[in-house]
Amino acid sequence: MTASNAPLLSARDVVVDYGARKKNSFRALNEVSIEVGAGECVGLVGESGSGKSTLGKAILGLVPVTSGTIRFDGEDITRATGAQRRALASSIQVVFQDPYGSLNPAMTIGDILAEPLTASGAGRKEARAAVADMLDRVRLPKTVVGRYPSEFSGGQRQRIAIARALVRRPRLIVCDEPVSALDLTTQATIMDLFIELQRDTGVSYLFVSHDLGVVRRICHRVAVMYRGEIVETGEGEQITRDPQHPYSKRLLMASPVADPARQAARREAWLKLREPVH
Ligand code: ADP
Repeated sequence: MTASNAPLLSARDVVVDYGARKKNSFRALNEVSIEVGAGECVGLVGESGSGKSTLGKAILGLVPVTSGTIRFDGEDITRATGAQRRALASSIQVVFQDPYGSLNPAMTIGDILAEPLTASGAGRKEARAAVADMLDRVRLPKTVVGRYPSEFSGGQRQRIAIARALVRRPRLIVCDEPVSALDLTTQATIMDLFIELQRDTGVSYLFVSHDLGVVRRICHRVAVMYRGEIVETGEGEQITRDPQHPYSKRLLMASPVADPARQAARREAWLKLREPVH
């Protein structure tokens, strides 16, 4: 396969052991393989502790990979050096669950958004224009540039974090539970924003969530993780309509819905499925 028809991101048989040199090392990822195509949104779902963030971090170079290979645009980035990672930052970005934790509280929104650009050599005028364009795209007024992160709601802060991730026009964004801290209505508007930005920019997402319901609207494909392994992969609609693996069924039942009657029915069904998955 040549670089031109290779998927944008390809992880093959990735193993991550935490504390690998100690006696009590823990295998957080066990031979995980996943691909994300250009312009594609791939959901990664699973309960807390199943290894989703670890896979995201391995792709971002934030945890060392024990074995396996991660390729981006055909290039092996599994053990990219610090300089290679800095260069990759213009192509691979991240949005975390807690936008407040990831936005420097001492910087104005204008500086937060301009910094990735000026740090990579853009002039001030060019950066200002790009920041204004990004604010438009995430539907925030230009007047926010002089304000600080603490002055905004959770949903607005997540818009700022998304704008910062997109400002260098990356090709892939790892979204790590980006709507989990938001109320259901705000979740819906931020999901719509992710969809719109993907349509307009062609960016790819690896979209991590513990909630199968959250990814169904946004993701083309969904991979279900359980105890460090991918147990099922399929089209978003298909997995949410007809999950095959017992664990996927449980996840679907656990996904919150706004209607209390439906939520109660799901909870009943979920309790029946509660026995451990083998
Ligand atoms: P998820 O994102 O699905 O909640 P994580 O990838 O955060 O799961 O964690 C997967 C497993 O690895 C969990 O059992 C967690 O306790 C463990 N883990 C995560 N980070 C570390 C670490 N730095 N050291 C040791 N174990 C870790």
